Amino acid sequence: MGDQSYSHPSPKSQPVSADPLSQIRAPLTLLPGIGPRLATPLARLVGGPRIRDLLLHLPDSYVDRRERPKLAHARPGGIVTLEVQVMSHESPRTRSQPWRAVVTDGSAFADIVLFHQARLSQMPVGATVIVSGRLESFADRLTLPHPDYVLPVARAHEMPAIEPVWPLTAGITNRTVGKAMSGALMRLTDLPEWIEPSLLTRRRWLSFSACLRLTQAPDTDVKARDLARLRLAYDELLAEQIALGLRRLARRERPGRSLTGDGHLRAEALRRFGFQPTAGQTMALAEIEADMAAPRPMVRLLQGDVGSGKTLVALLAMLRAAEAGTQAAIMAPTEILVQQHFRTLTALSPVPVGLLTGSMTAGARRQVLAGLADGSIPLVVGTHALFQKTVEFHDLGLAVIDEQHRFGVDQRISLGDKGDRTDVLVMTATPIPRSLRLTQYGEMDLSQLTEKPRGRGSIRTTLHGLGAMGQVIGGITRAMERGARIYWVCPLVSESEAMDLSAAEFRFDMLNKRFPGRVGLAHGQQDGKVREDALADFSAGRTQLLVATTVVEVGVDVPEATVMVIEHAERFGLAQLHQLRGRVGRGAEESFCLLLHEDGLTKIAQERLILMRDTTDGFVIADADFRIRGHGDVTGTKQSGLPGYRLADIPDQEKLREVAVKDAAMLLDHDPHLRSPRGQAADVLLRLFDKENAVRRMQAG
Ligand code: ADP
Ligand code: MG
Repeated sequence: MGDQSYSHPSPKSQPVSADPLSQIRAPLTLLPGIGPRLATPLARLVGGPRIRDLLLHLPDSYVDRRERPKLAHARPGGIVTLEVQVMSHESPRTRSQPWRAVVTDGSAFADIVLFHQARLSQMPVGATVIVSGRLESFADRLTLPHPDYVLPVARAHEMPAIEPVWPLTAGITNRTVGKAMSGALMRLTDLPEWIEPSLLTRRRWLSFSACLRLTQAPDTDVKARDLARLRLAYDELLAEQIALGLRRLARRERPGRSLTGDGHLRAEALRRFGFQPTAGQTMALAEIEADMAAPRPMVRLLQGDVGSGKTLVALLAMLRAAEAGTQAAIMAPTEILVQQHFRTLTALSPVPVGLLTGSMTAGARRQVLAGLADGSIPLVVGTHALFQKTVEFHDLGLAVIDEQHRFGVDQRISLGDKGDRTDVLVMTATPIPRSLRLTQYGEMDLSQLTEKPRGRGSIRTTLHGLGAMGQVIGGITRAMERGARIYWVCPLVSESEAMDLSAAEFRFDMLNKRFPGRVGLAHGQQDGKVREDALADFSAGRTQLLVATTVVEVGVDVPEATVMVIEHAERFGLAQLHQLRGRVGRGAEESFCLLLHEDGLTKIAQERLILMRDTTDGFVIADADFRIRGHGDVTGTKQSGLPGYRLADIPDQEKLREVAVKDAAMLLDHDPHLRSPRGQAADVLLRLFDKENAVRRMQAG
């Protein structure tokens, strides 16, 4: 072997065709102890059928067998290793009882409990053996039930002092994983280094393979192991950021076109609007217009808290597309929102605005479709009906998607595909925590509206037990007398919409008796027209109090409304409460939000509501919600497949990700096609984490 590598090129200098991952891309069945029978549950456990998958299956703890107490001083509960002499065997009196060996180390006696008679032969009476396992105290006797190791003293070295403990599944023991893992580690060759050299030095990180060994193999030093663990987490985060960066580049490299305009439509719309745009709106618009003017497709996220004025930004961007001689579409998730946008746009737009929803008559629909196809309708508002194949645009320059978390990710993209080189602007009111943005929305550029239009009254939030309903009604009565416009939101009572409905109807009946003719009702089960009328009545002031289920959550804009009552506030997510509360405080007057809650709240529920009472900062609330409920619910994108990490689930994740974001950006700035040696290494990294799709998209794009 040595001679061979002397006269032939060594493996390291072989051409790139020798894929350093080929060994670990092999199936699990090549590993010692893993036959076809075990391969199936093991693959399920480790999340894939390849050796790579096992290698990335990290221990969740480690057993330390270095504790070697005298029995007389041993404390039950921990893992101990004992050198003991076997005094006697006790056979079970009934079949369900275990076998026992009584042992001593001279200081005290203990029982070794064995479930298989065969193991007794490992500890013949009179022999001295090493046993290791968890020490328990049972009926005043020290007991080692089912020890992990029983070895003759001469073979004590076969027992590792520190052993990884992996997450397991039925049929797969830790020993099975350990054996397979050592086989897997033998196949792990050194991989090219993808981490930036100075970072590597600064962090004192070893190579990926070395770190994986330190983490997966027995007997490693705790400090070295922790450091290794950190690097592995970083590797996964870096892979994620490089993949996102590549996707972003691929989007940008798609042929786009420059949309510019002379501003006459926008100026006219602003004149009709009658207010100056806020500084935030102006800046977001400048970013959007720069993207639209650039000869590549825009993929931009406009994030702005509820009431920050995203609609105006969208309209002005759409008018720019119209000025450039193209069309623009805005899509919203609910019919109510679509109607509202339609009203806003028709009031402000100097050019015709079309409407496309699922509930239109065939005739009206045909007319709009014709106008979109021949270009005579430059702007259109619609529901997901806009996605349908039958919808053809003459020339769609800009697609705006409002409240995108209600849509699937694929839909988000498919509207952009409606046009050749269409610009895409996604708008969300959900304050997206930074970490989530970096993983979920990383391929989009970001514009933010951080302030609200001036002249907004503040919102005072108060908490009330449902037991105090009498007082609440008293307060509402006074507000009604003042002429206030009030939302009353009924909760999600149960999984079933019918039950939610009856709660809303009950509340409606009660309030309508008290304030006859001044109360409206809006909920998701209503006929679209009925609900639309209820909202319109409330909006126009024909009714003063609107009882509603969460249909008012998304985007309803009635600036005169100043009171929001939310029943069973504890049943809502914080982000959702924030959205609901954002329906008031839109005018100059002071607004009020009354959160009614169950009387016996848990401590956590109490804390959540107190947080709502004490802050109106959407980011603070989103971060809290994020921590309390975990990733999935913040944006309601459970189905969108938030990243499940293999290695990066560590407490320091956020900080490491910040580093990875910068590192990935730097790499891609210099080497967007991953051609340099480090780029090639990054390519290996991407494949290691199954992110090669990003590369293919980049090359295709
Ligand atoms: P959101 O970002 O929640 O979609 P909207 O676009 O519905 O917010 O705007 C909220 C309210 O603020 C609307 O009544 C809108 O007319 C008003 N608004 C938006 N921009 C301004 C502005 N620059 N000056 C005054 N009012 C504004
Ligand atoms: Mg909105």
